Amino acid sequence: MTCDRRAVIIGAGITGTLTARAMSRAGWSVVLVEAAHVGAGSSSRTAAGIRQQWSTPEAVQGMRFSTRFYEQFKERTGATELPIRQNGYLFLAENERAWQAAQRRVQMQQEAGLTEVLALPTPALVERFPWIATDAVLGGTFCPSDGFLYPSLVYQESLRDAREHGARLIQGAPVEGCDVSGDRIVQVHTPKGSFGADVFLDCTNAWSRKLSRTLGAEELPVDALKRYLWFLGRDGALTGEQLSAMPLVITPPGVYCRPENLDTLLMGHAHPARHEEGFSYEDQDVIEPSFAHTGGLESAPFHAWEQLATYLPSVAEFSGIRYTTSGYYGTTPDHNPFFGYDRQRLNLVRLIGFSGHGAMFGPFSAQVGLQLCEAGHDLDAVEVEGESISLHRFKVGRAYDHHEAMVI
Ligand SMILES: Cc1cc2nc3c(=O)[nH]c(=O)nc-3n(C[C@H](O)[C@H](O)[C@H](O)COP(=O)(O)OP(=O)(O)OC[C@H]3O[C@@H](n4cnc5c(N)ncnc54)[C@H](O)[C@@H]3O)c2cc1C
Repeated sequence: MTCDRRAVIIGAGITGTLTARAMSRAGWSVVLVEAAHVGAGSSSRTAAGIRQQWSTPEAVQGMRFSTRFYEQFKERTGATELPIRQNGYLFLAENERAWQAAQRRVQMQQEAGLTEVLALPTPALVERFPWIATDAVLGGTFCPSDGFLYPSLVYQESLRDAREHGARLIQGAPVEGCDVSGDRIVQVHTPKGSFGADVFLDCTNAWSRKLSRTLGAEELPVDALKRYLWFLGRDGALTGEQLSAMPLVITPPGVYCRPENLDTLLMGHAHPARHEEGFSYEDQDVIEPSFAHTGGLESAPFHAWEQLATYLPSVAEFSGIRYTTSGYYGTTPDHNPFFGYDRQRLNLVRLIGFSGHGAMFGPFSAQVGLQLCEAGHDLDAVEVEGESISLHRFKVGRAYDHHEAMVI
C-alpha cells in the first residue's frame, strides 16, 4: 500500500518516538532519523518527573492528557509494563506570600479540571508526610496523580509500537543538509541516505539551533543549559518503604528530590548555567568539578544536600552522594515549548524548547505534532479527547510576556 502522507521526524528521544507512534497510527508513512541512537539525548538523562501542577490552564490541561496517556500506556501501545509511578508531587511554601500564591494556583488548577490537587497547611502536611520539618514551611500543594516516569520504557515501547505501524528508524544518521524547493524542504541528507517527505518535524530540542542552521530554518531561542542529578544513599531513620513512597518534593530554594529506588534518593537543582553552543554527544556527560560529588564539600551537590535537609531533616542522616549524572535542558525565554510551523521552511514543524519538561510533555507534544501535520498550518488550539486546549502560549513568534512560574 502506498501512502501519500509522508513525514520525516528528526530526533529519536521521547518527543520523536511518541510523535512517530502517533503519526504512524494515524496512517502517515514515517521515517525517524536519529544522529546517534534512540534515547541518545536528554531523554536518557532526565529526572522524568510528571506533574499537572502548572501555572496556566492550558499547561494543566496538556499535562492532564499526558498523565492519562501514561496511565493507559499498556492499552495504548501494547506495552507490558507501565512507565509511570504516581507518588505525587509536593511543592513546599515557606512564607506567607508563597503560600497565598500556591493556594491561588490550586484554585486555578482545580478549575482547569485537576480536582485531586490539594493545598495542605503544615499540620495536615506533616500528618501525611511526617519526614517534613514542621517549622520550615507554612504548607504545601500536593497532587497524588503526579509522579515520575521510566523514560527508556517510554521511548523503547513507543518506538516498537510505531514500527508495528510501519515507521522506520534510521540510527547513526545526523541530518547534515537538505534540498529545498522555494520555501519547502524536499529531502534531508544524512550519511545513511536522503529522505524525502511532505512534512518534516524537528524533535531535536537542545540541538535545534544547530539543526536550524543546517536546514535554513528560523533559529529559535532554545538554549542548551547543563543540568545535574545527584544520587544519595539512604541511611538513618528513614526506611526503604518510606523512601520509595515519597512524592517528588520541590523545596522553596528549588532543590528537588524523588526516590530512585528503595535505597537511593535522586536530587537536582535549577542552578544558574550558561548556554552551551555546539556541544557534542560526549559533552552531555561532562561534569564540571564544582558540580561533581567528588568536587569537595564546597561543591554544588553538598550545598543542595544541606538545603534539602533543612526541609527533610532525615536526609541529613543519609550516607553520602554516590554518583552524579548530567544532561541538557533546551530552555526558552518563558520556559514554554515551541509548537508550530517554521516561518522560513514552511513544511517544517517545530516541537522543541521543553525547558526541563519534555518527558512529561511527550504525549501532548505528539498529539500537537500530529494535529499540526494533519492541518498543514498553524493551529490556535488542539482538540484532545473532547477538550480544546489553546496553543497560544506555545506559538512560534509569541511575545514572552508570561513566564511559566513553576519551573525547576
Ligand atoms: C537533569 C535533567 C532533569 C530533567 N528532569 C525532567 C523532569 O523531571 N521532567 C521532564 O518532563 N523533563 C525533564 N528533563 C527534560 C527532559 O529530559 C527533556 O525535555 C526531554 O528528554 C526532551 O526529549 P526530546 O525527545 O525532545 O529531546 P532529546 O531526548 O534530547 O532527543 C533529541 C534527539 O535528537 C537527536 N539529534 C540532534 N541533532 C540531530 C540531527 N541533526 N539529526 C538527527 N538527530 C539529531 C539527538 O541525538 C537526540 O537523540 C530533564 C532533563 C535533564 C537533563
